[in-house]
Amino acid sequence: MSNTQYSTQDLRSGADPSFQKKLAELLRRESRLSIPDPLYAEGLLFDKSLYNISRLYRQNRVLAHVLGARLVPKFITVGRSLEEFDLKNHEIYYNPIADELLWRLSTKNSDEWIWTMRMVLEYSNSIFHELSHFIINKSLPWVECGLERYAFQESLVLYRDVLLGRELGKGGLPFNVCGVVYRTSADTGPLAKSKRFDFFRTQVIFGYLQVRGIDNARGRSLLLKNGVKLGRFTPLDLNPMFSKTAYTTWMKARAMQSVLAFKPSEIIPLCDVHFLKKVFNSLESIFQTSTRNRASVEPRLRH
Ligand SMILES: [Zn+2]
Repeated sequence: MSNTQYSTQDLRSGADPSFQKKLAELLRRESRLSIPDPLYAEGLLFDKSLYNISRLYRQNRVLAHVLGARLVPKFITVGRSLEEFDLKNHEIYYNPIADELLWRLSTKNSDEWIWTMRMVLEYSNSIFHELSHFIINKSLPWVECGLERYAFQESLVLYRDVLLGRELGKGGLPFNVCGVVYRTSADTGPLAKSKRFDFFRTQVIFGYLQVRGIDNARGRSLLLKNGVKLGRFTPLDLNPMFSKTAYTTWMKARAMQSVLAFKPSEIIPLCDVHFLKKVFNSLESIFQTSTRNRASVEPRLRH
């Protein structure tokens, strides 16, 4: 797809009249793709496309499956899935809207595009993001580090989203428009091994600060004051709506703990390179295991 001149928001608003056709074509192509039987999730939007295109997406699907996650079709809005999201639940819900979307794209004219988009954004979420939560929560030992635990987990999950956006490059735009991939990236291609930790560190530090209500400009000056030098990577830019609404809703809904204001002491573990390196190494080894476990989900393919 060549929608380089359009942003996600432009495309959602219908700025490119040909986008409807391109999306329908992508969905039709998807119906010809396969996915290993135990992972098959009927009607999950762009699941087979992403499984076939993306190594990181496959990693998440396989590892979550091995750890006991089940994808369950359920009529549920994005807002409700956020409020009811339970880290301990092995069932991850999704709306099976792929067929409905294809029908709308094939039969409705462009005047109805906005309604179609509304439906898509109300009922689709990023399964990749949900499965990252599941895997990280299950596999990473939670050390006391002075960081707000759930915000820290969110920053690790956001880092995985950034990696996926980077892996997909321009091709990720339609998935991002439909809400099944949360990040897009102009930078693509694999990162050199020597740069991976620096990249992780930048995304996790700024991701954490944003989830805690500190925007990137304030974050930068906070880090500068504490003598933190980061590489040249551009940090993710979180929609402020997310930290203000989604995160606080999520926390309150769970009543795990009240949403406290950012404490200055939280900057200490974020500045601690050894601590972050330990987390980085743990994450790397967690996701590498999916390659070893892949054989257990390969035997049969489902269309
Ligand atoms: Zn999340």
